[in-house]
Amino acid sequence: MSDLPQVNIVVPLYNEEEIFNSLQLRLSKLMDDSKLRISVILVDDGSSDKTVALMEELAMKDQRYTSVFLSRNFGHQLALSAAFSCVNATEAILVIDGDLQDPPELLEEFYTQFKNGYDVVYAVRHKRKESFIKKAAYNLFYRLLKKISYIEIPLDSGDFSLISRRVVDNIVEMKEESRFIRGMRSWVGYKQIGVTYERQKREAGDSKYPFSQLLKLAFNGIFNFSEFPVKLISFLGLSTVMISLCYLAYTIVKLVFFQQVPEGFTGLIFTITLFGGVQLLSIGILGEYIIRIFFQVKNRPLFIIKKQIHNGKTIL
Ligand code: UDP
Ligand code: MG
Repeated sequence: MSDLPQVNIVVPLYNEEEIFNSLQLRLSKLMDDSKLRISVILVDDGSSDKTVALMEELAMKDQRYTSVFLSRNFGHQLALSAAFSCVNATEAILVIDGDLQDPPELLEEFYTQFKNGYDVVYAVRHKRKESFIKKAAYNLFYRLLKKISYIEIPLDSGDFSLISRRVVDNIVEMKEESRFIRGMRSWVGYKQIGVTYERQKREAGDSKYPFSQLLKLAFNGIFNFSEFPVKLISFLGLSTVMISLCYLAYTIVKLVFFQQVPEGFTGLIFTITLFGGVQLLSIGILGEYIIRIFFQVKNRPLFIIKKQIHNGKTIL
């Protein structure tokens, strides 16, 4: 029998010193108790706190842990992509956040579904223990994305999932620069199934996803998986042309039959500002796609791995 693990648990970490010990305890207990051969891949996304030292120490003393260090902060989605490029599991990969919002113990339940023939078993948040505004924003975003996306992206599911090795390999092959992994995971296809769970509060420390990053992720979801925004521009353009033609007809009728000249300064200002806005918005929408092309054609590596500790040995 091969020594390779059946399952890799991949965890991106960015300044998570406060939570590291409880994370390690939970993961080690899971590995001790499980019948599966499991190994963990921790990815440091350019942390500046003790996370790096803790990861080095752990991977040196416990060979079930591999620690991968990126050369700087690349962001959660790229850290996850780096983890995917390092997997060695024969069967499947469990993706979790480092803050224990996603209980790793769900692995057993996910694995049962995986064995039932599902390549992707994704977690669906049944409840979130987060602020009202954050919950409302998430709700709105997932529903909008579902409406406008050209692939079926499940509602209320994040990156927390068990993914077969072949799907992870497929995702690694996708060299797209602006990554929205939950969308790419859906795009791959195969049989996928959701399992509901209650999303916990972060165990310690603060969110490492500032609003700007969340917005970037949301934009990546929308602009990478939907052509709706561009279609919207054409629709707006067409509608305004129609409206102005109607208005022209109305003015001519008024002039010819009732000898009235058009009037209305306020109407004029309103029209100018409205269409100025529509045009800027349209340029902005086009810009979003162009930015993505711009970064894609550079063809830079997605992330840089500076060091790796695997089987207690340092590589690179
Ligand atoms: N994370 C990361 N790089 C970043 C930001 C976050 O690797 O630039 C990690 C973070 O350490 C955590 C996971 O991504 O393990 C999810 O981040 P967080 O819990 O802060 O996001 P939230 O749950 O608040 O959306
Ligand atoms: Mg979190």
